[in-house]
Amino acid sequence: MALLEINRKECIGCGACVTACPFGALSLDSENIAVVSEACTACGACISECPVEALSLPQVKKAEVEDISAYRGVWVWVEQFRGEAGSISWEMAGQGRKLADQLGTTLTACVLGHNVEHIAHEAIAYGADRVFLVDDPTLAVYRTDPYARCLVELVRKYKPEIFLLGASSRGRDLAGAVATQLYTGLTADCTGLDIEPETNLLLQTRPAFGGNIMATIKCPNHRPQMATVRHRVFEMPVPDPTRQGQIVREKAVMGEEDIASKVVDFIVQEGEVNLADAKIIVSGGRGVKGPEGFEPIRELAEVLGGAVGASRAAVDAGWIPYAHQVGQTGRTVRPDLYIACGISGAIQHQAGMKTSKVIVAINKDPEAPIFQIAHYGIVGDLFKVVPALTEAFRKRLNK
Ligand SMILES: Cc1cc2nc3c(=O)[nH]c(=O)nc-3n(C[C@H](O)[C@H](O)[C@H](O)COP(=O)(O)OP(=O)(O)OC[C@H]3O[C@@H](n4cnc5c(N)ncnc54)[C@H](O)[C@@H]3O)c2cc1C
Repeated sequence: MALLEINRKECIGCGACVTACPFGALSLDSENIAVVSEACTACGACISECPVEALSLPQVKKAEVEDISAYRGVWVWVEQFRGEAGSISWEMAGQGRKLADQLGTTLTACVLGHNVEHIAHEAIAYGADRVFLVDDPTLAVYRTDPYARCLVELVRKYKPEIFLLGASSRGRDLAGAVATQLYTGLTADCTGLDIEPETNLLLQTRPAFGGNIMATIKCPNHRPQMATVRHRVFEMPVPDPTRQGQIVREKAVMGEEDIASKVVDFIVQEGEVNLADAKIIVSGGRGVKGPEGFEPIRELAEVLGGAVGASRAAVDAGWIPYAHQVGQTGRTVRPDLYIACGISGAIQHQAGMKTSKVIVAINKDPEAPIFQIAHYGIVGDLFKVVPALTEAFRKRLNK
């Protein structure tokens, strides 16, 4: 339901609000009075534009005002599957460590699962000063309710100022559930995190408006400040097995009988593409011209022992499955070598690959934006360049 309230008696039908609304949610009805549709996001952009103050937003109930100065420390959630921590969690730990050092505070890792004490030790090696270990059969596999309730209780008890989670499928699910229960803000899919020196607030940067601008978001009034970050946005830290830290054991808060969802089985998807961990990626875009155009891309990837990526244009055209898509709405990758073939280098594509160590672009248009971020550029027809590279690597690598 739209939240915007329109005082029909005051409205003069000038249409200023209609023009101001970025979401096209306002229009004038047959009586020349403003009406609002479900597209309204309650952003408030129209309110200041109305010359007769006919528009308002009801006061949204605020959470009980609490002393946010009591919140201290940076936390990360360590995601694990069958007793193995995901590398995304250590990327979070690496960045969390930097933020904690900037704030002069501690880094805490939250490890939830069953028979996962070894992960608590790993978390210390990756930079945690303290680990909350909740080891319980109810947490053996990820389920939103018991995981979220556990983290919510830990936050209420220990009050962290910053809480970071990896933007994996589970991390996204969990972060939303935890933030909602804590009545705090959450910035999803950040591409940068920093501390504002004057205020010590977390600066959470992420693409907005279709990736055309980068927005930096702050959460000044609620705690913890929560953010999710996609895989490969931050560098993987080097673990130090000699680091010392404290492991604090905490109890799970839900019994099996209280949990509505039951895990019946796991079915592993065949042929899954692991772009995030690939050291070499050869990607094809609209320039490959069709599904068969990915054949030379695959051959080069195979010779180099790499994975095949794609632009959204190629995925949307149905030439290759979505799992291969690199970019803002696909995977974020950070390989040692990224070869972009027939990809123009739109900002949304760059958002997923520009931190690759070495970028090679093959494009017949010398003005293509990809050349602005490429370390090496080859201006030419990919259907000639790519097979020539494959042949040359085959010889050099004896394959
Ligand atoms: C909200 C939003 C999210 C998006 N998310 C993503 C995303 O996650 N990933 C993504 O990739 N895009 C994303 N996009 C789309 C993005 O804006 C571009 O449209 C897309 O990346 C273009 O793909 P492309 O470079 O393959 O195609 P094009 O822009 O059409 O470029 C094709 C290129 O191929 C070159 N070429 C053609 N033939 C040859 C040849 N024979 N040899 C060599 N070069 C050749 C051309 O010179 C051209 O530069 C998103 C857009 C929006 C609005």
